[in-house]
Order: sequence, then C-alpha cells, then structure tokens
Amino acid sequence: MNVARILYPIQVLGPGKRVGIWVAGCSRRCKGCSNPELWTQRPEYEISVDRLSALVEELARNYVVDGFTISGGEPMNQARELNQLIAQLSVVSSDFLVYTGYQIEQLIEMHDPMIDSVLRQIAVLVDGEYIEELNDNTFLRGSSNQRVHVLNSTCKEKYQKYLEAGHNQIQNFTTTDGVVSVGIHHRSFRR
Ligand code: SF4
Repeated sequence: MNVARILYPIQVLGPGKRVGIWVAGCSRRCKGCSNPELWTQRPEYEISVDRLSALVEELARNYVVDGFTISGGEPMNQARELNQLIAQLSVVSSDFLVYTGYQIEQLIEMHDPMIDSVLRQIAVLVDGEYIEELNDNTFLRGSSNQRVHVLNSTCKEKYQKYLEAGHNQIQNFTTTDGVVSVGIHHRSFRR
C-alpha cells in the first residue's frame, strides 16, 4: 500500500482521537487541492498492510484510538489494500471515515468487489470532487458540494451530534517532512 502519512491523534476530521492515514496517488488534479504533494506515489511510501496494521495496533495498545480517518490522495484507487486494512483494523475500532473524490453513485456503478466491500465496512464516506470555488468552510468538507454519508447505522447518532455541534479546526504536526497542517483549510491555504 502506498501511504504517505500516518498521524495521531487527529481530532479535527471526525469525532474523538483518531489515527489519520493519508494514501499517496491521485489523478484527479483538482484545482486548489490542499495536498498536491500526495498526487504521486513514491517507492519509499510502500508499506504492507500487515506492517501498517501492526503499527496501528501497537499504537492502540498504548493510546486511545476512537476511529480512523483515511484521506489522500485517492483512497479508492487502492481499494484492494484499503479493504484489507479496514478488515484488519476493525479490531481496534469500526469507526472508519473515508474521503474520496468520487461520488458514492460512481463508486457503486464501478461494480468493483473491493470498493463494494470497503463501502460495506466503513462508517462514513465523505464524497465528491473538490471544487475550490465552493470551499466555504462547510464542516468536514473541502467544498460544499461534498456530502457526508453515514453508512453504518450504529454510528448515525454519534455523527449526527458531531456534525451539528462541530466546526472546522486545524491541527499542525511537526514531522520529519516538516510541518503538516491537518483539517479543512480555507481556499487560500496553499498561497
Ligand atoms: S481528489 Fe483530493 S487529493 Fe485528489 S486532487 Fe482532488 S482534492 Fe486533491
């Protein structure tokens, strides 16, 4: 699996203290994308699903992990690995929030068993392309055309409350790659 970043605790992209996983690789090239450094996969980002799961499970033995937020890049372009990762990490939490540039209808129409399995396993899908002109600080969404689908009925109440009460915030992490800013950024963020 080609994964550029794993950060913890993410507290601005879903409820609680979450593990954030950013996959590398995206061919959509949305204007104003806040993560263009993740468009290209790199050999040094390769990690096996087993190794990634083991790292996260080790983290979860020592710290509270309320859920996972998976972004990128385009997670659905690595659906096979994503499917396996979610299956393995569900022992830690069943709260998987996944961002995708596809609309859920497009994903369903692909009839890809791996994507279908991902959709069956995750709690929340935030879908739709990023449109810079529609970046109006809508909670949890890069642009207001994107939608939050709560796919796991047991999470509906939790996310309903979270979406009603929440507002966008930013977290900055100092990493070996420099400062990484996490959250929904204003459209002028890159400039
Ligand atoms: S889909 Fe996401 S990662 Fe890909 S270019 Fe668009 S905003 Fe950037």
